[in-house]
Amino acid sequence: MNLIALPAFTDNYIWMIHDGIDAIVVDPGDCAPVLDVLARLKLKLAAILVTHHHDDHVGGVLGLRPHLEGAVFGPAFEAIPEPYTHVRGGEKVCALGLDFDIIDVPGHTSGHIAYFHQPKTQPNAPAGTDTPVLFCGDTLFSGGCGRLFEGTPAQMHHSLQALAALPGDTRVCCAHEYTLANLKFARAVEPDSADLDRYTRWCEQQRAAGLPTLPGHIAEERAINPFLRCGVPAVIQAAQNHGALGPQPVEVFTALRLWKNEFR
Ligand code: ZN
Ligand code: FE
Repeated sequence: MNLIALPAFTDNYIWMIHDGIDAIVVDPGDCAPVLDVLARLKLKLAAILVTHHHDDHVGGVLGLRPHLEGAVFGPAFEAIPEPYTHVRGGEKVCALGLDFDIIDVPGHTSGHIAYFHQPKTQPNAPAGTDTPVLFCGDTLFSGGCGRLFEGTPAQMHHSLQALAALPGDTRVCCAHEYTLANLKFARAVEPDSADLDRYTRWCEQQRAAGLPTLPGHIAEERAINPFLRCGVPAVIQAAQNHGALGPQPVEVFTALRLWKNEFR
């Protein structure tokens, strides 16, 4: 399986998985980059996965329908362009021969879902040939998280905790290239983090070479993403210096999210 990020608009990625014959795309905000790659690699479009209803994630669905040989899957509790298969947390979706677990991740929008695929371990497969993959839309970004347009801080905190609990080698396919800006904020929260220094240098090199910083990895995010670190003493302290009402993880998360909204 090949995993590629198709840049769209100014900072979106439309993720594609393909096996050389068929492809799935996730959150096609624009159909043009997808049609382009389908034609160039001579791929058929087998399915579209949608995480939430925002235009920069669904705007290309209509234009892709004539080329689609399978279904559009989308969040049961949000309105995306019909017809589509409504899916919700706890269900499974199968596309391209791959099973995806649906995880409810409300916060950025109220019905936001994520798609998680974990390859079945084959007895004699060499380690690391195929690792789990997560399509998390605008919920988890590398070094940050989505804005709370429709959900509460408690919901978003809970959603992020569910994603942080996935296997460490899970490839994190976020829908936006916000990493460097997020890391600037992360550094304000944890100025003494060596992990942040190292990861920031790597991300800067990627961007300087015109490459995505994504997919990220869950283990890396647990080490550097302040929004996944609401129980870490240095993060609690920083949040309390920026208005957190107490040391509880949701209080810390709430203060971090408000601080980030104002941060330049
Ligand atoms: Zn969004
Ligand atoms: Fe978005």
